[in-house]
Amino acid sequence: MPSLKIVHYPEPVLLTVGKPIGDEEFGPELEALVGNMFETMYQAGGVGLAAPQVAVSKRLFVMDVPHEDGARNKLVFVNPEIVSVEGEQIGDEGCLSFPGLYQVVKRDMRVIVKAQDIKGNLIEHDLTDLSARCVLHEADHCDGIVFLDRMTKLKREMAKRKIKRLQNTGKWE
Ligand SMILES: [Zn+2]
Repeated sequence: MPSLKIVHYPEPVLLTVGKPIGDEEFGPELEALVGNMFETMYQAGGVGLAAPQVAVSKRLFVMDVPHEDGARNKLVFVNPEIVSVEGEQIGDEGCLSFPGLYQVVKRDMRVIVKAQDIKGNLIEHDLTDLSARCVLHEADHCDGIVFLDRMTKLKREMAKRKIKRLQNTGKWE
């Protein structure tokens, strides 16, 4: 399967609220998109990828935060909805749309999320730690929110300066 082009900040599609996926959209075309998104994510070395990051302005993301033994843990979230959150975690975060940029972001420690799977069935997941961080990060993408928006003002200013430097050296297009 061909891999997709990952768009980088500040592409407008990253800052746009994604459209819900309608019942009529489930089928081979959506399955092919999801397959391509997984492949693109693995090639880029990421653990999550949202549709807006491949210039598809829809409420959809894939993730694979491997199990402790390294086994694959492929999850698809269509029309995700955060049901509840609790706790707090502070840690470094990256994003495939911000190549080379890592910054501290505070997130909830646990998240319960509802969505549809690739067949349109309703699913619910109760996730913690990195998986919770990933879901919150990717669900944000569906809302046109990027992790820059979740940083403290100070860290955001630092991140913006670093993005400028990377852009000037051609490492960011
Ligand atoms: Zn991201």
